[in-house]
Amino acid sequence: MSIEENIRKIKNSIPEEVTLIAVSKTKPVEDLTAAYNQGIRDFGENKVQEFLDKYDKLPKDIKWHLIGHLQRNKVKYIVGKVHLIHSLDSIRLLEELEKHYKAGEMMAQALIQINIGKEESKTGIYQEDIEEFLEACERCNNVKIKGLMTIIPQGDEESCRNYFKETKAIFEQLKLRKFNNIHMDILSMGMTGDYEIAIQEGSNMVRVGEGIFGKRNYNNK
Ligand SMILES: *Cc1c(COP(=O)(O)O)cnc(C)c1O
Repeated sequence: MSIEENIRKIKNSIPEEVTLIAVSKTKPVEDLTAAYNQGIRDFGENKVQEFLDKYDKLPKDIKWHLIGHLQRNKVKYIVGKVHLIHSLDSIRLLEELEKHYKAGEMMAQALIQINIGKEESKTGIYQEDIEEFLEACERCNNVKIKGLMTIIPQGDEESCRNYFKETKAIFEQLKLRKFNNIHMDILSMGMTGDYEIAIQEGSNMVRVGEGIFGKRNYNNK
């Protein structure tokens, strides 16, 4: 199926209040343009250099989402260019964002990445470390926390559903509390293989790559 057909199909199958992010990592600018022409304005990239190349070549009304682990030495390149950072995964990164956004007199918007499956291969905050992390967020002035993001462990439908439920429960608990700088509005969970389950379990932002653009070929990079 074409990019256009994939987008039409996904948009028809998800509620209007769920934001669809087209994850365009490794894909050429022409593919992003095809998605743009189909009405997509939210694009997800995971590498800063690739994001910057595409940022320069594509229309300025695109909202760019950084979804991959962000190295602290790359923060200075993204200030003012990224709409939402999904992968805030350490206090040191938080402090680096605060420093550079303050210097640029800008506001960063970020999601706290939760490592819900406690996988060592993934970054993200463990559930038991969230309180300490929130305290650090409250001390910031130039980083606004908009919600949570998670990448769940691979597994069958029941396993996916349980990890989504656990993340949603954390999200709802935090939503009840009052914080400085922190508003639990966005719950970013669900990818090509599981976004429908994620939405059923309360996601309001899904990150779909292969389901829109087709298989990624890393060897071509
Ligand atoms: C690549 C990626 C996606 C998209 O994955 P697909 O399976 O292609 O939909 C979503 N989220 C993150 C963090 C990713 O790195």
